[in-house]
Amino acid sequence: MPFLLFSAQLKITALNATGSKANYAVRITFNQNIKQSDFKKYTIKAGIYYDIKAELTLKRRSFKLGNNVVTIAQFNKNISRIVIETKSPKNLNFNINKNVLTLSFGDSADSAKSSAKTAKDTAKSKIDSKDSASSPIANLFENIDPKAIQADSKDSAKAAKPATKPAQKPTPKQTESPKATTIDSKLKDKIIVLDPGHGGKDCGAQVNRICEKGIVLNITKKARDILKERGYKVFLTRSNDKYISLTARTKFANDKNADVFVSIHANALDKKSKNYKTMNGIETYFLSTARSERARKVAELENKDDIEVMNYFSKLSFLNSINSQRLLASNKLAIDVQSGMLSSAREIYRNTTDGGVREGPFWVLAGALMPSVLVEVGYMTNEGDLKKLQTKAYQDKIALGIANGIESYFVKNF
Ligand SMILES: [Zn+2]
Repeated sequence: MPFLLFSAQLKITALNATGSKANYAVRITFNQNIKQSDFKKYTIKAGIYYDIKAELTLKRRSFKLGNNVVTIAQFNKNISRIVIETKSPKNLNFNINKNVLTLSFGDSADSAKSSAKTAKDTAKSKIDSKDSASSPIANLFENIDPKAIQADSKDSAKAAKPATKPAQKPTPKQTESPKATTIDSKLKDKIIVLDPGHGGKDCGAQVNRICEKGIVLNITKKARDILKERGYKVFLTRSNDKYISLTARTKFANDKNADVFVSIHANALDKKSKNYKTMNGIETYFLSTARSERARKVAELENKDDIEVMNYFSKLSFLNSINSQRLLASNKLAIDVQSGMLSSAREIYRNTTDGGVREGPFWVLAGALMPSVLVEVGYMTNEGDLKKLQTKAYQDKIALGIANGIESYFVKNF
């Protein structure tokens, strides 16, 4: 992946406990190569900590290595902090290999003690964020603004609870359990983040004083209710009329360890477009650098509410966020969601136009670490679509279609 070498924004993309019995370690994986001078070291009474200009794309985590505790958290908007609580700082091994920092404790009493444990014990000994918050090092993290890392205050309250799901997806081997698990129960663990577009000061598309933000919020809430009823874990980036930046939306999904991210919008054409009044129907987009004329126009419309984001993501880090496996999964998700919406909408409007699955450079999808799509549920600039979009019947059908599409993606791919 050549883009990794040139990415502008350093990110921590994985945290794992690894190592053999003789030497347990914490692996901190970055999105690009790192070097010793990237880390600022501080010695404190409780041990050592390191600051690095990087974004932690995962939840804060603590690991126990013998008698030592390693905690990785976002300190502020720019800095991630690695705190090592230890009585024997001299035994810390700080090894950098390309984009991975490995922390372990050398041939000491500590590692000898820990070597008696099995790998399973180490995994279990992970301390959840609630516990470590009350530890003596808690003040090292007090600068962390929960609002900076959570998009929705209502949902962030839930996020403060210990994670029920590991940040790293376990490999199939690790998930093997002697108890038989039905497909159903496996699917119910899936986490879905739904993102109603725009909100607050950002009305989205506006036609005859009708705002996109309200229509898409109704649809999103309905889709949430349907999916929750089926047993899925569903979170909304917003559940009321408030403004959220584009980057906060995907960050929220990443923090929730979501399995899919679906951003919900209604379309509108510029008055200068020749199809201004006639273009209608449903479309689903996934993120890529492909720039068809139509995708470019929709992307322009959906990107414009957050100008800062253009500075935040340099073009290269934007490319960096496109991983070919995720692109393929997003394409599959887009196909299922599009066909779900179409067949549901056609139950009441048989002539609903299939705008198809398209790809484009959507900033709102750029930061997501999971398969993610953006749906356009109709054209507000088309009289027929606008009428439909305002009815509960159509909103409910679209919501059902989105829910069915997500579910069918899960059934096929997990
Ligand atoms: Zn929109």
